[in-house]
Amino acid sequence: MAERIWRVAIPSPLRRLFDYLPPAADSGRDPVGCRVRVPFGSRRVVGLVVETQAEAGSLPRDRLRRADRRLDEEALVPAPLMQLGHWCAAYYHHPPGEVFDHLLPAALRREADAGRKPEQWWRLSEQGREQDLDALARAPRQQRLIARLREAGGELPARELRDLGDGWQGVARRLADKGLVVEESRQPAAPPASEGSEAVTLNPAQASAVEAIEAGLGGFHCHLLEGVTGSGKTEVYLAGIRAALARGEQVLVLVPEIALTPQLTARFRAALPARVGLYHSGMNERERRDTWLLARDGSLDVIIGTRSAVFMPLPRPGLCVVDEEHDPAYKQQDGFRYSARDLALVRARMQGFPVVLGSATPALESLRNAEDGRYRRLSLPERAGDARPPKLRVVDIRGQNLDGGLSGRLLQRLDAHLEAGHQALLFLNRRGYAPVLVCNHCGWTADCSRCDARMTYHRARGSLDCHHCGASRRLPRACPECASNKLGVAGQGTEQLEQILSRRYPSIGQVRIDRDTTRARGRMDSLLARARDGSAQLLIGTQMLAKGHDFPNLTLVGLIDADQGLMSADFRGPERMAQLITQVAGRAGRGQAAGEVLIQTRAPDHPLLETLIQGGYPAFARAALSERREAGFPPFSHLALLRAEAHQREAVNAFLEEAAELGRRQAESSIMLLGPLPAPMERRAGRYRAQVLIQADGRRPLHRLLAPWTPALEGLKSARKVRWSLDVDPVEL
Ligand code: ADP
Ligand code: ZN
Ligand code: ZN
Repeated sequence: MAERIWRVAIPSPLRRLFDYLPPAADSGRDPVGCRVRVPFGSRRVVGLVVETQAEAGSLPRDRLRRADRRLDEEALVPAPLMQLGHWCAAYYHHPPGEVFDHLLPAALRREADAGRKPEQWWRLSEQGREQDLDALARAPRQQRLIARLREAGGELPARELRDLGDGWQGVARRLADKGLVVEESRQPAAPPASEGSEAVTLNPAQASAVEAIEAGLGGFHCHLLEGVTGSGKTEVYLAGIRAALARGEQVLVLVPEIALTPQLTARFRAALPARVGLYHSGMNERERRDTWLLARDGSLDVIIGTRSAVFMPLPRPGLCVVDEEHDPAYKQQDGFRYSARDLALVRARMQGFPVVLGSATPALESLRNAEDGRYRRLSLPERAGDARPPKLRVVDIRGQNLDGGLSGRLLQRLDAHLEAGHQALLFLNRRGYAPVLVCNHCGWTADCSRCDARMTYHRARGSLDCHHCGASRRLPRACPECASNKLGVAGQGTEQLEQILSRRYPSIGQVRIDRDTTRARGRMDSLLARARDGSAQLLIGTQMLAKGHDFPNLTLVGLIDADQGLMSADFRGPERMAQLITQVAGRAGRGQAAGEVLIQTRAPDHPLLETLIQGGYPAFARAALSERREAGFPPFSHLALLRAEAHQREAVNAFLEEAAELGRRQAESSIMLLGPLPAPMERRAGRYRAQVLIQADGRRPLHRLLAPWTPALEGLKSARKVRWSLDVDPVEL
C-alpha cells in the first residue's frame, strides 16, 4: 500500500497547502496536528500537518519531497482547533499557512521542543505574611510588592510581577534580605488554586442572568449580557464561571487589552477556587508557551487572555466570557484579520459550550443578533450598590473663547469638583502637545513627507512625530519655508492639557495616561495606583483611560472633543463615539457621590448625539440601527474590503481595477463592488493605498464570490506589483 501524503501548512502568502511524503522511518502514527520539519525551496521550515490523503494532489507522487522528521508523536494542536483553523482559512479566505501559524504560540512554531523549563517564583515568608504594611510606608515599592503577593494568595511567578516597573527585582531582593519574601526556582506548573472568596449577594437582575447562564452550561448558547458600567457584570461572570468550574470545566475569559488584565486577574484569582493563567502580548514567548501547554494539559482552570487566546487549547471547555465585546481590539488589523469575538462563537458552536458577551455598550451587530433571537439578552439595568447613573450634558463650544481647548463651563465645574475634594477625568483622544505646527507668517504646516498627515508636536521631546508611520524629526527653530520664527501651534493634545492644568491647579496631583507616559513597563500600573489611592486628583488621558478602571472618588468627566468620531467618514464613527462617551461617562460617580459628565462639541444638534444624551446608549443604538438599515450597512449587509498599496499609485489602481472587473463578472447581481477608491489616508509611510469594498446582502453570496475570486487575484500579473489583502467583516473602512 502506498504511503499517505502529508498536507502541510507552511507560513507563506500562498493560499494552498504543500504536499510531502512522510519522513523515512516514520512511526506511522497519525500526523495530523503534529509539527513537521520539511524542505521548502532551499530552506528548512517547521510546518503543521493539516491532513493526509491517499492520492497525490498538486504534484505526481514521484516528484514530492520527503519531510525530514516529525517534531511531535501526538497531535500538538488538538483536533477541535484544527477544525477551527480550517474554518478560518475558508471564512477569511486567508492563506492556510498563516492561519494555522496562529494556532501555536511563537515559541512552538519553531523547532523548540514542547517540554517546559524551570522558572522563578517569589513567595511570602511566614514573617512576610504577618508584616504590618504601614511599617513599610517609607518604601512604597516594597509595600506594593508585598500587597501584590498577598492579593495573589502568597506567591507569584516573576513574570507576573514585572508590571511593578523597572527595578522590581531589586525591590524583591531587599525584601528577601529582610526575610519577608523567598525566591524559588520551580518547574512551570499551574499556579495553586486559591480558595475563592465568598460571593457577593447578587441583586435580582444579576441572579436571573446567572440563572440563565447556568442553565445553558453543557451546550452552545450565546448570552448577551448588557449592563451599564458598574452594574455588576463582573460578578455575573464570576458566578457563571464558578458554576462551570463546579462541573469540572475550563473557562476562557477574553479581554480587549492587556492594561485591563492586572486588576481583572487579581479580582478573578481572589474570587475563584481555580488555577488561573494569563495569555497576552505583554508576556514573553516562553511564558506564553507555558500557559498554552498548561491549558492544553488541563492544568489551568481559567485562562484570561487577549485576542489570540481564542485559540487556546482546552480539553474541557465549559464557558467563554468575552468582556467588552464591542471593543475593536478584538479584530486583528493586519495579516490574518480575524475577529476573536466572532471566533469565540464559532468555536463554542463547534465544541458545544456557551459564550457570554458582556458590555455596557454592545456592538450594533450583537444587539441585532439579540433582537433576532440568535443571542439571549440578559440585562442589568441599574448600577450595583447605591451608585446612581451620571448626568450627561452637552457644552456647545462654537464661537467660544477656549483656554487650551477648555470651555469656561468645563473649567467652572472642574473648580467645583476639585474643591469638593473629588477626582476629575479629562478625556482627549489625542496625545502629544499639539496636532498642528504652523508658521504664522506664511502658513506653512509641518506635514509628514511620507503620509497625508500632519506631524504632531511633542514638546517634552522637542520633536515632530508622525503618528501614522512613526517618522520623527527635531522641531525646526525657524519656518523651513520663509525662515520666520513665528512658529505656533494649533489644537491640543494631552501633553498640552496637562501643562495648562498644572498651571491652573499647581497644588493638585495630576496623572496623564497615554501611550507616551506609559511606554515603560510598569508605568501604567504606577500611574493608575496614584489615581486609585487618590494622590492624583486630576486624571488626563486618551482612550487608555476610558475602560475598565474603577475610581470611586471620581465625580466629573469632561470630554474635550467629542467631534472626532461624530464627523468621521467611517460609518461606524458615531457608534464608536457613543460607546466611548458612555464608557468614559461610566467612570464617573461609581462611589457615593453623584457623577457629572460634560461633553464639548461643535455639533450639539447632531441627532445621534442628542439621542444618546436623552435616551442613553439603548436609544442611540435603536436610532443608529435604523440608519444602518436604510443605508444598507452592517448588520443589514455583509462586507469585505480588498486593500492594496504600493509606491506607485498606478500599480495600485491597475490591480484594483482588474480585481474589481473580475469580481463584477463573477458576482451575483445582488453584490456590489465599490471602487477602487483611495483609502481614507491615501498615502501612508510612502505608499499609496486604495481599496475596493464588496457589499452583499447575505453572507452566502458574499462567500460564493470570495471563494473563487481571492485565489484568482493571486494569479493576476498586476498583483505582483502591490501588497494586497482581503479583510472579511472589516471594522475599519
Ligand atoms: P461592571 O463589571 O458591570 O462594571 P462590577 O462587577 O465591577 O461592574 O461591579 C461594580 C461595583 O459594584 C464593584 O465594586 C462590585 O464589587 C459592586 N457590586 C457588584 N455586584 C454587587 C452586589 N450584588 N452587591 C454589592 N455590590 C456589588
Ligand atoms: Zn513661514
Ligand atoms: Zn508619516
